[in-house]
Amino acid sequence: MATKLEYIWLDGYKPTQSLRSKTKIVKNFSGKLEECPLWSFDGSSTEQAPGGSSDCVLKPVFICPDPQRKDAYLVMCEVLTADGTAHESNGRALIDDDDNDFWFGFEQEYFLWDPETNKPLGFPAGGYPAPQGPYYCSVGANNAYGREIVEEHLDACLEAGLNVEGINAEVAAGQWEFQIFAKGAKEAGDQIWIGRYLLERIGEKYGVAINWHCKPLGALDWNGSGMHANFSNSVLRTAGNKETYDKICEAFRPVVKEHIEVYGADNHLRLTGKHETASIHDFSYGVSDRGASIRIPLATVEKGWNGYLEDRRPNSAADPYKVAARIIKTVKSVAV
Ligand code: ADP
Ligand code: MN
Ligand code: MN
Ligand code: MN
Repeated sequence: MATKLEYIWLDGYKPTQSLRSKTKIVKNFSGKLEECPLWSFDGSSTEQAPGGSSDCVLKPVFICPDPQRKDAYLVMCEVLTADGTAHESNGRALIDDDDNDFWFGFEQEYFLWDPETNKPLGFPAGGYPAPQGPYYCSVGANNAYGREIVEEHLDACLEAGLNVEGINAEVAAGQWEFQIFAKGAKEAGDQIWIGRYLLERIGEKYGVAINWHCKPLGALDWNGSGMHANFSNSVLRTAGNKETYDKICEAFRPVVKEHIEVYGADNHLRLTGKHETASIHDFSYGVSDRGASIRIPLATVEKGWNGYLEDRRPNSAADPYKVAARIIKTVKSVAV
């Protein structure tokens, strides 16, 4: 029997990488990752290689059923150069978490976008809908736009076996969120990218684009889109004291620049200190503080300082691999 494998990878565009994919037909496929062969593509068409030696290598790293195609799987891949080393666009290779001690829950926000009006769904062609307020977690045709896409996406993610934890309508009209959690930083990144892929592909069917930009409506009074990174390792999960949390949070202070570098393009437009964000120039942390760079969830304190942290600065267009890699580096720099 013939099986369709959709090999998915990230291109080399800067500052924001996009999804690329192509289909490989294989025979008598077992469904196992180990059986997915290496494959190659033309890196000169994706800003990943010069025309003269254009081959880049696709290394399968995560597989799940493709809920939208018959006899098919989605195969997330890392990009390698022709000599087999990680390509510089390969953020996944930077993740130092081989024992999967790091758990990540990403809250992926995005806008459903009408390519004809070049505005979010729910925005009239010639102006603006009512100001923010009624849209967050809303129901009803006056306030919630594009639900059928969102629902189809949720079902597709669940059918693919992704660990989606929830969805909600967000603060701006046409803005939504899904959350994905995984034990293991690499897998969390894989699942977010597959989740994004499925959303893009469902959007095609409806003629609706997905806008991942962190501030697609510019400086107007509309929320931007984030990708809050909730994270823990065994230290944070079992600390049992405030001092450990303070120490780990303080380790983020001297490396604000290094973090912001991988937290998504144009984040200065979003991290203004307004709209539930901290200023891009400051660093702060606090219990239950949604205006802080890092929030210590109340539940973590209530469990006796056992739990996780939420870095609220990564934006919707950030690469979850690079975000996780940087967070892990900073957390591991702390001696506990
Ligand atoms: P909020 O919108 O209030 O910030 P959400 O419920 O949207 O919160 O997201 C919280 C996220 O935290 C979820 O994705 C969840 O998986 C994640 N999370 C919960 N516990 C942990 C943990 N121990 N380590 C890492 N992430 C966690
Ligand atoms: Mn959320
Ligand atoms: Mn949100
Ligand atoms: Mn959050």
